[in-house]
Amino acid sequence: MMFTCSHCSHELSAKDDEVLCSGCGTKYGRMEDGIVIFDDCLDKHSFFEKQAIERLDRFYKGYDRGQFLEDLKKVDLWQMDEGNKRVGIAKKFWWEPHIGKIENKLILELGCGVNYIVPYFMECDNKVVAFDICRESVEYSKQILTAVGARMDNITYAVADAREVRFPAEFDIINISNVLHHIDDKPAVFKRAYDALKPDGKLIIVEPNYYYPPRWIIETDVFDPINFVKKYFVDNDLIEKGEKAIIFNNMIGQLENAGFTIDVCEKDDNYLGYFTVYWVKEMTGIARAIFLADSHLFTKIMPRAIAPFQYIIASKGDPTATH
Ligand SMILES: [Zn+2]
Repeated sequence: MMFTCSHCSHELSAKDDEVLCSGCGTKYGRMEDGIVIFDDCLDKHSFFEKQAIERLDRFYKGYDRGQFLEDLKKVDLWQMDEGNKRVGIAKKFWWEPHIGKIENKLILELGCGVNYIVPYFMECDNKVVAFDICRESVEYSKQILTAVGARMDNITYAVADAREVRFPAEFDIINISNVLHHIDDKPAVFKRAYDALKPDGKLIIVEPNYYYPPRWIIETDVFDPINFVKKYFVDNDLIEKGEKAIIFNNMIGQLENAGFTIDVCEKDDNYLGYFTVYWVKEMTGIARAIFLADSHLFTKIMPRAIAPFQYIIASKGDPTATH
């Protein structure tokens, strides 16, 4: 089932709804409704279970294959469908100009959440192992796959902790989208990701940048306890208490320490757009005008260090070898 034992490295398997190591017999969890549920896997903040899931119900009401295919055409932030915009997707398929379309591969979706990515990977005939620490997110993602008519024999879903779970070194791609800023021990995650990739595999990451000015104001501790903007965002479950976006210099150091070589580190262009995203409706003239200002002006004058997101592609390869 594409998970391995931390004691003996044998593969885990399901037997009478229990998930056990096929080598030493250690019990890891159980199967429920076709989902692997690892033991001791608590989402202690349960951030996504509050308003987030209720919002999803609004965006995915009556969702079907036709709507899914329509939403896949909405690539950039100015046209982004609400379901993806509200979970921080600023650009779809951003990796394709660098490594091409990902088809017929084995993919690990680390922290799957609820967005277009797992359904899209399935649509491109990949096999996917997707997990999240939030059980509600996993169940929601699974419902969406069913709604869009995906081939369910190509997906394995699990509720698991990215710092603990282990995999065989068989994955072509590991995708991490807006997950790492919720995880304290990133080096533990990167070590497991490194071990799970094939020698020529790619790790692809998008995360929010801590130093994007509108985000920094919300997340910084500098103004505590009088930061009313931050208090508003925490009180309304728009960010997790104590949530901090990524300081990319630190994270790139952690990736390199885990053995990765950075192939691509690209900024997101939506300097103005991401700040206005919550107030401007998609596909409108004003949304397009903001997008054009970003892509023709701000992206040319603003540094990557303060971009709203950064996109990273990393490989396991020897840094001295040519790619
Ligand atoms: Zn074992």
